[in-house]
Amino acid sequence: MTLSGGIGLDAEQGIHDPLRGEPEVERVVAQSRRWRVLGLRVDLDEPEARLRERAAERSGIDLEAIRSLRIARRSLDARVRRGRRSLQFVVHVDVEIDGGSHGSDSMAFQQAIRAGSVIEHPPTSPLHFEKLRESLRGSRYAVVGSGPAGLFAALALARSGVGVDVFDRGPVLAERSRSVAGFLRNRVLDPEANLLFGEGGAGTYSDGKIYTRVDHPLEPSILRELVECGAPPDIAWDARAHIGTDRLHRILPRLRARLIDAGVTFHWSTRIVGWRSEERGGQRKVVALETESGEVGCDGVVLALGHSALDTLEVLARQGLPLSAKPFQLGVRVEHPQALIDRGRFGDEAIAHQLGAAYYGLSSRSGGGVAAAHSFCMCPGGQIVASVNVPGLLCTNGMSNSRHSSPFANAALVTTLGPREVGPEPFAGVAFREQLERSFFEAGGGDWAAPAQRVPDFIQGKPSSEIGRTSYKLGCVPQRIDQLLPSQIREPLRRALLHFENQIPGFASHEATLVGIESRSSGAIRTPRHAELRTADGWSNVWPVGEGAGYAGGIMSAAIDGARSAQSLMEFCPD
Ligand SMILES: Cc1cc2nc3c(=O)[nH]c(=O)nc-3n(C[C@H](O)[C@H](O)[C@H](O)COP(=O)(O)OP(=O)(O)OC[C@H]3O[C@@H](n4cnc5c(N)ncnc54)[C@H](O)[C@@H]3O)c2cc1C
Repeated sequence: MTLSGGIGLDAEQGIHDPLRGEPEVERVVAQSRRWRVLGLRVDLDEPEARLRERAAERSGIDLEAIRSLRIARRSLDARVRRGRRSLQFVVHVDVEIDGGSHGSDSMAFQQAIRAGSVIEHPPTSPLHFEKLRESLRGSRYAVVGSGPAGLFAALALARSGVGVDVFDRGPVLAERSRSVAGFLRNRVLDPEANLLFGEGGAGTYSDGKIYTRVDHPLEPSILRELVECGAPPDIAWDARAHIGTDRLHRILPRLRARLIDAGVTFHWSTRIVGWRSEERGGQRKVVALETESGEVGCDGVVLALGHSALDTLEVLARQGLPLSAKPFQLGVRVEHPQALIDRGRFGDEAIAHQLGAAYYGLSSRSGGGVAAAHSFCMCPGGQIVASVNVPGLLCTNGMSNSRHSSPFANAALVTTLGPREVGPEPFAGVAFREQLERSFFEAGGGDWAAPAQRVPDFIQGKPSSEIGRTSYKLGCVPQRIDQLLPSQIREPLRRALLHFENQIPGFASHEATLVGIESRSSGAIRTPRHAELRTADGWSNVWPVGEGAGYAGGIMSAAIDGARSAQSLMEFCPD
């Protein structure tokens, strides 16, 4: 089945577009309403036109009662049941349905709601506000960080009419890419321009996965923005949507141009090194940010620092920003030939030509005193990269291009640690993580080569005599990862690998390699904030957002968190 995302109707028709107001059809057919029909199971080669019939059957209404239909989400079910694998798409569709006895007022439809096959259409929300509070007119807010959290906070503010300055310690994309290429060529790291810092933030060199597990009202608006900047339209409904580094690099300059059009001023290669604040009525207020070239006044600050700006967090903590410890993940990357994963997931490698490179998301539960572990951030047809910003510390992650065309599949394989394991101090998790990052850096030879071990050797606790080809461009060195990792990480990973072998044959075979360390799948620090106002505790005009503040774990969740906090800023700003 080839899915276009809209069936029999123009994609705009009948679909509420939060940026453009109520669509025509909703005014004409007052009694029709929008619903989401869940869980239509569709064969791979089934014609798209059948979805309408499937939706009518599942919701118990007449075909004619469906005024419009579009795909809301599509995922692939590749599970083996009773020893048999039958690949099917599971599709949720958004439909506009007439009222009346043949439509949404019918008994059968009401029954479908009770059975959970149909739900009300999830609400959507525009990024910006049409009407700006008087007190915000002429104001100027600082956004620190141009990752997804910072960019979408800036967009929401600027489009609503708020003046915005975006600061990033790293450079604009083209310059950043030259530094990254230089690092890969010469092994000389620029601490301010790398895979973590610079335009677009940490996800700029990534697989660009942009799905979340939650249907947030802001998600459609963010996806629309990305599509208008050149992302493929299927990101709006593909449950495994990814953009890829190559396309992200075309999208980001267009997004930057939109932000500039909306009135945003960018300050590249400008690191925030502190702030000046005043205290009034028990609440502190930032009045200016300190940069290395002087002070910049502001009415408030959105802090979108990402999880690796520890120098900044340390300074701001000394200046009164509250911080607390949070659970975080630690582990390694596991890499396989993509063909092995394709066979394991699809049963037949050739299906990958039709469906694209296979992905997985696997987990193993805790038990017998051993913690749970899971795979994360899987990059089909991707490569392992050194996502580092500090000399002497090694950390790996994964990225892919839009075609998923490398012969390797890699993913994080991690377990969760927290204050109970590493201590309650805000920086305890970071210190624990850095100690491991340093030992992996040194075990790799101190030139960004990464320690690696064959999976069977890791499981049996013995050295690997050699490491075959991997996707990690800076080279791998055979090392005892089983000894470099403390037992509280090693044992959950061991158990998980054995468990995953049952789900994907070959997962724990000689063809699988561990490369490490993967220590920044999530931040270890949270900035406590007010649930509704979203301001940092004790501060009236500081909005900590995104992954660095502990409220996001990926591109989309960071973008949503940034935009949502910008909305709180505008909503609750006193007149
Ligand atoms: C290699 C890699 C691959 C990834 N792949 C995916 C993926 O496929 N899908 C996914 O959902 N997530 C992925 N992630 C995670 C994702 O990138 C992050 O969750 C997301 O970028 C967090 O967004 P953010 O805006 O909170 O912070 P970041 O994106 O980290 O942005 C923070 C920005 O703040 C700037 N900054 C920091 N300190 C200062 C300062 N003092 N002054 C000025 N600027 C400062 C930094 O330069 C940076 O640009 C990946 C991460 C990496 C490293």
